[in-house]
Amino acid sequence: MQNVYLLLGSNLGDSKKYISDSVDIIQKRIGIIIQKSSLYQTESWGNTDQPDFINQVILINSELSPEEVLKEILSIETELGRRRHEKWGSRIIDIDILFYGDQVVKTDDLTVPHPFLHLRKFTLMPLCEISPELIHPTLNKSASELLRDLDDELSVKKLT
Ligand code: ATP
Ligand code: CA
Ligand code: CA
Repeated sequence: MQNVYLLLGSNLGDSKKYISDSVDIIQKRIGIIIQKSSLYQTESWGNTDQPDFINQVILINSELSPEEVLKEILSIETELGRRRHEKWGSRIIDIDILFYGDQVVKTDDLTVPHPFLHLRKFTLMPLCEISPELIHPTLNKSASELLRDLDDELSVKKLT
């Protein structure tokens, strides 16, 4: 059983519904939900000429391997109707693996911890809401230290 942190994001269609539907399916197929951050409205990162995103970070307990978790999240994205267009383009749902316990994975298809998580306020703010003390296994800093040291001016607002 591993603690797995996932980032959910959507900036097309009924984003809140895509995120809550994803959480329901994740619970059925990947593992039980231990914690959920609030929803955050975030300015898009990387390709800024697109609508704001809704983001949420969840912590689950899973018996699946990292590769199996990846396979499940990609199939959930496809089932909900995601079509891949340009890199960092708008999408109805995106699910990324942030951490898989303290394991480090580097294959052609999977990099864990997620390679950009420490550069993204839209990831670190919801992560810090649920696990500020979590230590990044290669950067050796806590989530709250990564957020403190981050230089990302994009707006990230917690929704009530
Ligand atoms: P970013 O990685 O910058 O957040 P993205 O989420 O838009 O970009 P996608 O098009 O959703 O990228 O994913 C492309 C591929 O990234 C996936 O098919 C998957 O094989 C790979 N990938 C590598 N590491 C991870 C990870 N930690 N979580 C999810 N996908 C990953
Ligand atoms: Ca992503
Ligand atoms: Ca992704």
